[in-house]
Amino acid sequence: MSGQDFIVPARSWDNIEQVAQGWRSKFGLADTPYTPIMEMMEKVLDNRLNCFTLIPMAAAEMGPAEGYTEPDGKFIWLREDVYYGAWAGEGRHRFTAAHELSHWAIHTNIPLARAMPNQKLPAYRLSEPQANQFASELLMPAKFFTRFDCEHDVMERHGVSYQAASNRLDYLRKKGKIVG
Ligand SMILES: [Zn+2]
Repeated sequence: MSGQDFIVPARSWDNIEQVAQGWRSKFGLADTPYTPIMEMMEKVLDNRLNCFTLIPMAAAEMGPAEGYTEPDGKFIWLREDVYYGAWAGEGRHRFTAAHELSHWAIHTNIPLARAMPNQKLPAYRLSEPQANQFASELLMPAKFFTRFDCEHDVMERHGVSYQAASNRLDYLRKKGKIVG
């Protein structure tokens, strides 16, 4: 899974929110706005039951992809600059890491069918929008937002890029999910 959309079992965005917030709670992050995504990946690695290998890969070997999650869940590759950038706290790279962990969480060991480029399918049936939504939930839980937030507040609080912060504010406002 790497940029190419696959048809996956349907999930509502509310279901994705519940599963992702369950993950955050399991990692003791329920009351913590900033998700240490690389530490989270390493903790998953440490759990023998859910073991995968996280491998930094040379850009030349990755083609156009920044990350790749093996469909059986045995490994996640991150392009070298993404791997080290995510450890350094760079917002865009943290989102890419969260996106791959999301594929690992909800798209491994399930039936996958490749979506054709001309096939019109709703986002809730496709692997890429599902993984982006899961990654947003992992990094920017709705409960920390208030109506006074601007993009820069979100970037600082959650360690994300301007674009990710802006998309998330749009989504939460449209859904009426900002209560504070
Ligand atoms: Zn992907």
